[in-house]
Amino acid sequence: MNNSNDNQRRSILIIAGIILFSSGIIISLNYYSIKILSSIRAYVNKESHYSKAQKDATRYLIDYIQTSDIKSYEEFKHYLAVPIGDSLARVGMQQGADEEQIRRGLLQGRNHPDDLHNMIWLFRTFQHMPYFEKAIAKWTAADVDVGELDKIGAFIYGYKNRAIEPGVQAALKINVSTINRRLSNNQQAFSTILGEASRIISYWLLFINIFFILLILISAGLYARKAFKQLVESKALVIAQNQAKDEFLSIASHELKTPLTSMKASLQILERLAKNSPGQQQIHPFVVNANKHVNRLTDLVKDLLDVTKIHSGKLMLNMKQFQLNELIKEVVEEKNQVSQQKLVIEQLADGYVEADPNRIYQVFENFLSNAAKYSQESDAIHIYSLVEEGYIKVCVKDFGHGIGEDKIPLLFDRFYRIDETKHSVQGLGLGLFICKEIIKSHNGEIGADSEVGKGSTFWFRLPLVA
Ligand code: ADP
Repeated sequence: MNNSNDNQRRSILIIAGIILFSSGIIISLNYYSIKILSSIRAYVNKESHYSKAQKDATRYLIDYIQTSDIKSYEEFKHYLAVPIGDSLARVGMQQGADEEQIRRGLLQGRNHPDDLHNMIWLFRTFQHMPYFEKAIAKWTAADVDVGELDKIGAFIYGYKNRAIEPGVQAALKINVSTINRRLSNNQQAFSTILGEASRIISYWLLFINIFFILLILISAGLYARKAFKQLVESKALVIAQNQAKDEFLSIASHELKTPLTSMKASLQILERLAKNSPGQQQIHPFVVNANKHVNRLTDLVKDLLDVTKIHSGKLMLNMKQFQLNELIKEVVEEKNQVSQQKLVIEQLADGYVEADPNRIYQVFENFLSNAAKYSQESDAIHIYSLVEEGYIKVCVKDFGHGIGEDKIPLLFDRFYRIDETKHSVQGLGLGLFICKEIIKSHNGEIGADSEVGKGSTFWFRLPLVA
């Protein structure tokens, strides 16, 4: 059993480990994927600023070739500064320049300041991976053309407002257009490659996410199955242990019953002999005491035996119809002879019940002896019965300490005893439990009303026979 428990525990630990590991992977995977994808988005944005600025620069350069207007040259330089900034940042990132210098280049390239950190991180981390290597190659090629445009601008600037020969003008314009087309193609390729990379990343992300989520689900399923199996096994174990305990109680109380009965008989004879034989009177009180304790022991064994019968469903009832009044009067009369408190019958209602008289006697007697035990300071116990809603209700009222409201629902539980009295009064806490089971098996009801400091009324109700 211990070995199998260890194995169960080990496999539950392994499953919990897998779930933790998979959750960790999913969290970090998603964190990095979001970082990568947002950096790629920043590069695609960069490309659109780059492309727009390059087109504007080209437009002003052609204007400058045609007009030699210095304003066009200035606009050309203004727009060309954008791809040049990006280019400087790229070279810086490839050559391991410090971050401040790279950031300056990227800002000149009109990138958003919040994106710079991720852009630099992506470049540095993935620059040697195939997709990014290809994209960087396109970017580098585009930058070479940006340099070419810059050189053409500088060349025309060298004319210093002198008119450019028409032949040179035409050749320069063709050259600029060719460079512009090549630049656009390279930028397009740059964006396409990054787009493809982000699609592949999203695809893998989805795949890996599904894989780990499935792993978590399967592990959780296994975990639940194991836990359920363990629960079922422990439940079976508890049931088996309870059965063994009930069996032991049943055998023990059975075996105790026979010697106790013969002991009781012998003690009763001995008590009579001791009382009546001259010279033996001094042993009489000891025999009375022994007799009293044997009676108590017999009651305890009887209670234990009843409990085992209730648990195994073997509480037999010998049903017959009788007048409940008669039984109450009989018990009160009998108890009044030995009781220290006066048992007072207040009123009795007429009514026949169909029940086992011995078992009802047992319940009523238990109420009386509890009332006596738990109200020793008072001198009377009241008994009455009344008819209500097709039932006859029998009540035993004492004037003892009473019971707190919160404890009343627990009184009829097995082995329940109120803390305040459990050390001063002997008992097992089984009497009321047995009473409840007896009354339940008669389709009746049982209960108690009480007020602390004033006393308690224990009652049971049995259906009246028409
Ligand atoms: P036992 O008397 O052997 O302890 P019972 O099942 O008969 O067991 O009673 C359960 C508990 O209910 C008692 O321990 C006692 O605390 C409380 N009890 C029962 N009857 C009375 C009463 N008349 N007044 C106060 N407390 C009572």
